[in-house]
Amino acid sequence: MEKEDKKLLLRTIPSLEKLISSDEFKNFKGIYPRRLVLKIARNCIENIRTKILNNSSTVSVDDYSIYSQVKEELQRWDRHGIKRVINATGVPLHTNMGRSPLCERAKKRLESILETYCSLEIDGETGKRGSRSKRVEKLLSEFTGAESAVVVNNDSSAVLLVLENLAKNKEVIISRGELVEIGGGFRIPEVMERSGCHLVEVGTTNKTRLIDYKKAITPNTGMLLKVHTSNFKIIGFTESVSLEELIHMAKSENLPLFYDQGNGLMINLMPYGFEHELNVIESIKAGVDIIAFSGDKLFGGPQGGIILGKKKYIEPLKNDPLMRALRPDKMTLACLEATIEEYLTTENPEETIPILNMLTEKPAKLKKRVEDFIQELINIKNPETEINLTEGFSEIGGGTFPGFSLPTFMAGIKSPEGANILQEKLRRQNPSIYCRISEDQVLIDLRTIKGNDRKDLLNGFKKVFTERQFNSID
Ligand SMILES: *Cc1c(COP(=O)(O)O)cnc(C)c1O
Repeated sequence: MEKEDKKLLLRTIPSLEKLISSDEFKNFKGIYPRRLVLKIARNCIENIRTKILNNSSTVSVDDYSIYSQVKEELQRWDRHGIKRVINATGVPLHTNMGRSPLCERAKKRLESILETYCSLEIDGETGKRGSRSKRVEKLLSEFTGAESAVVVNNDSSAVLLVLENLAKNKEVIISRGELVEIGGGFRIPEVMERSGCHLVEVGTTNKTRLIDYKKAITPNTGMLLKVHTSNFKIIGFTESVSLEELIHMAKSENLPLFYDQGNGLMINLMPYGFEHELNVIESIKAGVDIIAFSGDKLFGGPQGGIILGKKKYIEPLKNDPLMRALRPDKMTLACLEATIEEYLTTENPEETIPILNMLTEKPAKLKKRVEDFIQELINIKNPETEINLTEGFSEIGGGTFPGFSLPTFMAGIKSPEGANILQEKLRRQNPSIYCRISEDQVLIDLRTIKGNDRKDLLNGFKKVFTERQFNSID
């Protein structure tokens, strides 16, 4: 290219100032960070300049459509944020989508305290300084029958606090079959190490007997620990010691028994086809000294670590310096209070606690919901798309109920562009729709669709069905 031509071409590049003061760019104002918009626009301009200077023949009109390039980049940036999504996977405790949804009471409470201020540490009775956790602790005792309660940020911190406070520099006995990794690299043995206690493993991976614990007890034993093997299942030639047996032995050896129960199940799910397992309330009734679990698994509340048990073990935790580092914020506490109040108030937690509602929905009801949904989908679909009622299973998720899934009914959608592309298109909607794929069908499981989700799910499909062509995936 001649020098003069280059000069002329360079003059065609719009100036940054002109660009960002254009009407189009005003659309981004107040929505996206100004410096981000500037940075992306500057890069686009720089790109054209480089191409011209390098004699590139590929500089095209597309390079000049800076507004749409910036818009696309901003949307990409947006997709990385935490926003509402539609979970059509049917996995109720989806760890990647925030685990348990909150009940109405908790949502309302949260909204009300976020208006301006809240009574986090003011005693409404006296007007004097109060404690942020007194009420939630009282509610927990009321609900579960535990003598005392402490709340921290999650179950992992609960395990850390309990071990550090009650068994530092002492031996803690645990079955080899329970040395679990919970996920995200959280391994029970490593947390125990961090808390300064010494791990004493007993039994083998598949078999541990009461006598194994008994033989491991020394004058330096500080605690017996049982961990719920929430995310895996050992089947076949197995044997483990029940909570009741351990409670009995801990008592006779005068040692505390700590049960990391994890999932926070409060009700009996057996009538709904689940295997029997001791829930939190039953474990406390059976006499466990300390029990800990997550707030956002089957308990159905916010992320949190709830520790319950005997007064003599729980009260010291409250004055542990670690407690200051692990204490939850006002949003967590308010939400947790409201969730417990809901349990204490409702006739039927399976109705009003969303996570329990999803786990216990009757197949016939689910089927009817799916059939109605399919009818609406058929009304808006394009002719090439096939939609059928499909039977299958919903996993529970969140590392609970390994090897168990619930029979379910789904909308199976077969589109000529293929399941992967349809799935991608659904994910690009606002709010994003997440779904499963099986045998080149997109599966929509309504088990996890509640409230406004249904309307927005349908809207998302409407948009996808009316899109003329698919713009390639980045
Ligand atoms: C889920 C779980 C944890 C981790 O809980 P977080 O609240 O995610 O920190 C620890 N122990 C058990 C047994 C669990 O099930």
